[in-house]
Amino acid sequence: MNKTALITGSTSGIGLKIATSFAKEGYAIMFHGLEKNGLEIATEIGKKYNVKVGFSNANLLKSSEIEKLIEETIATFKSIHVLVNNAGIQYVAPVKDFPNEKYENIIAINMNAVFYASKAVWNQMEKQQFGRIINISSVHGLRASEYKTAYVTAKHGVIGMTKVLALEGANKNITCNSICPGYVKTPLVINQIKDQAQAHNMSEKDVIEKVLLKKQAVKEFIPVAAISDMTLLLAKDTSTTITGTSFTLDGGWTAQ
Ligand code: NAD
Repeated sequence: MNKTALITGSTSGIGLKIATSFAKEGYAIMFHGLEKNGLEIATEIGKKYNVKVGFSNANLLKSSEIEKLIEETIATFKSIHVLVNNAGIQYVAPVKDFPNEKYENIIAINMNAVFYASKAVWNQMEKQQFGRIINISSVHGLRASEYKTAYVTAKHGVIGMTKVLALEGANKNITCNSICPGYVKTPLVINQIKDQAQAHNMSEKDVIEKVLLKKQAVKEFIPVAAISDMTLLLAKDTSTTITGTSFTLDGGWTAQ
């Protein structure tokens, strides 16, 4: 395996599991995220699986930092085969109280960063005649829930962007797909449980049972391993014709 993967937000939660699974398969990994121990995480996983790693804490709120992140990845590894646009944030509040700054930041990190990163990898992927852009959208890219104006808007946007990139990448062996998980127990959701409890005036236990998992037919959090397995599949050489689509891992939420 002489392939390189950049996974944004890979020093926490879903991204960390994806990066670890790719390292296990022998990919060189560009780790990225704001966690203070990011470099240690990257170094440890690199040693464990004997793969080359890099680390960046580029702030995805700034397009210039995203461009630098991609430049740094290509300079370090001389390639970029897989881009997983995973980093994301959440904020939950009724629309009338939704702070503008929170709205703008969610749109910037969860949606605009996908555009800037994909744009910046494009030339290199074209040169390689190989590219796999995998966007971690959400079931909220396909369905809405109240109090999530920014998140639902951004995640729907990512699914639209995925289709456009797939069309532009066709015949260049650049594919683009979205993965749409239901609830995964990561720091992002643990914080949300607290916010939802406040918004609904409920206990955290009731939020998990009556709000979060209410819409999933399977009343279990989605395992991070299910998401990393799907990501690995989409990255494969043989996945050239799987493009422009969204894969739900949502415990049957959108089946209803
Ligand atoms: P997480 O909070 O564990 O990780 C988010 C990562 O994004 C972290 O590494 C963080 O440092 C990074 N990040 C946040 N803001 C950043 C910024 N400004 N610049 C650079 N990096 C930044 O969250 P997670 O649950 O693992 O979420 C990962 C992705 O999966 C997100 O896009 C999220 O919307 C999506 N998702 C999560 C769930 C869930 O239930 N957890 C469900 C569906 C989709």
